[in-house]
Amino acid sequence: MRRITVLGATGSIGESTLDVVRRHPDRYAIHALTAHRQVDKLAAQCIEFRPARTVVADAGAAAELRGKLAAAGIATDVLHGEAALEAVATDAEADTVMAAIVGAAGLRPTLAAARAGKRVLLANKEALVMSGAIFMDAVREHGATLLPIDSEHNAIFQCLPNDDPRYGAGVSRVVLTASGGPFRTRDPATLHDITPDQACAHPNWVMGRKISVDSATMMNKGLEVIEAHWLFAAPADRIEVLIHPQSIVHSMVAYADGSVLAQLGNPDMRTPIAYGLAWPERVDAGVSALDLALAGTLTFETPDLTRFPCLALAFDALRAGGIAPAVLNAANEVAVERFLQGAIRFTDIAGIVARVLERSPAQPADSLDTVLEADRHARQLATALVSGGAGRPAASQGLPQGAHIPG
Ligand code: NAD
Ligand code: MG
Repeated sequence: MRRITVLGATGSIGESTLDVVRRHPDRYAIHALTAHRQVDKLAAQCIEFRPARTVVADAGAAAELRGKLAAAGIATDVLHGEAALEAVATDAEADTVMAAIVGAAGLRPTLAAARAGKRVLLANKEALVMSGAIFMDAVREHGATLLPIDSEHNAIFQCLPNDDPRYGAGVSRVVLTASGGPFRTRDPATLHDITPDQACAHPNWVMGRKISVDSATMMNKGLEVIEAHWLFAAPADRIEVLIHPQSIVHSMVAYADGSVLAQLGNPDMRTPIAYGLAWPERVDAGVSALDLALAGTLTFETPDLTRFPCLALAFDALRAGGIAPAVLNAANEVAVERFLQGAIRFTDIAGIVARVLERSPAQPADSLDTVLEADRHARQLATALVSGGAGRPAASQGLPQGAHIPG
């Protein structure tokens, strides 16, 4: 029986995880569930899954949740705050941690789970983008098992050799597919009028709002390029991005002999989640069978970097190394949040990220403190760009000079 802590249980990945768990009560039990402030949803999950412990953001949310659980006769221990997230991520009673908090907020508990030697199911790509080598070293040193849940990385993991799922002898490229998001074919001149709801209406996947905006700018793919670099030890110039609007081929690995292995399936995150839970076995995920005749045509195209400058910025940050990916991520989180609040335009996001990167001196990412300080500083810069009037015109310039992507 696997005992699982789900960090970010009330989100899109969290709910899909609980759906897979629900299908296999003989294999999986929930040790702990965490959420930020969605008390009603978390209460319902606690009533169904009876975790030993649960965590919310603050004392107010905890009091509200305690009241609801007491009324339902549920004995779950209710905690709050960041330290409590790390506690449930490292509890000896749990062997598996689903890291499904969105953004930098997930870094500490996810890293703590790795340091505690857990099986870490990594959805929270931002944690790895920020901490890179620090995170991978923790996995190695503490004997954790790191399984990628991001659909592309899960696909690549499945296509790499079982005994050593890393870039190495015989592998020539990893190819990340991307849907291209909702604006793949829209006239770029009209992108400045995009509303948050339009940006979040993804053609193939139902996801949280932050990753939905990232998909629309293709910053999501940029973060995934950096994620792939760390997960599979793949050099930047061996990672290729290919737009595949149908989201059936979830990614590919090209080998020296000309073979290309791909993983296919309907776009449903329960497939990679079930893979991570059951690995190295396979279990029913509740996902409908892929019907390729019904899918009909699968198409592929090279991304247009003038339309998607965020993708180029991410490649640049990966090549720059050190704290640059953490800076990119932090600036993007601020810009996306402000776009969702209606404070800036969709087309301002890339410009803000570019300006923050320009203003952040290069520095090695040699400790967690350095990374967290880079994150904090980049957030300050991004916030100043958004709120100071001076930031707007500069932020609207879009792609910085010299931004490029490998062919
Ligand atoms: P979501 O917004 O739907 O859910 C986020 C979860 O994190 C919620 O449970 C929320 O309560 C919690 N949370 C938010 N802020 C928090 C904070 N400051 N402290 C503690 N908890 C907090 O997001 P999602 O779409 O489920 O994505 C989660 C992660 O998985 C992201 O990193 C995303 O990039 C990644 N991911 C998601 C998908 C997808 O299909 N949704 C696919 C691949 C990767
Ligand atoms: Mg993905």
